[in-house]
Amino acid sequence: MDKQGKNKPVIGVDLDGVCADFYGRMREIAAEWFETSVESLPEKVSYGLREWGIESKKQYESLHRYALYQRELFRTMPMIPGARKYLRKLSDEGFHIRIVTHRLYIHYSHASAVQQTVSWLDGHGIPYWDLCFMKEKSEVGADIYVEDSPENIRKLRKKGIRTICFANSTNTDIEPPRAASWREVYEMIAGMS
Ligand SMILES: [Mg+2]
Repeated sequence: MDKQGKNKPVIGVDLDGVCADFYGRMREIAAEWFETSVESLPEKVSYGLREWGIESKKQYESLHRYALYQRELFRTMPMIPGARKYLRKLSDEGFHIRIVTHRLYIHYSHASAVQQTVSWLDGHGIPYWDLCFMKEKSEVGADIYVEDSPENIRKLRKKGIRTICFANSTNTDIEPPRAASWREVYEMIAGMS
């Protein structure tokens, strides 16, 4: 690494399910949506939330719109413990943090999604230099990715890109490297570079 900071390894960090507890907050909102108790909705879910009674893409999108507009989903998710501490450590140690998230998937709600995201990132003290709203994550050219979506992990690894799976109930069938916590992510990245 040179003094200008060129050639810093870039870490592509996903938000939902990696930095922000998407499923934890969605569980609370879904309980309101269905007018049921939070406890009655299983904690372990798969992508699409069928365990909570979401039966179609249309229903999922409807719940998502409610969550985003009425409950400020992207502003109100708890931070996954360790994200701030270990991203700051990685940043201090010379890694370039690039946030890569696919949050712009409902047309005409982008201003709200972006504002909520930026306010959440600043409010939680997450250090980053770049913020990319992208579906195709490999196109932002990071050196190492931290990601929880099985589909994204498979796509990135197929291209030979180093990708750490941030373990949760949606990705139990994904091969290592898997990290169960931010401390493990940190140790893996420190060991890779
Ligand atoms: Mg995710």
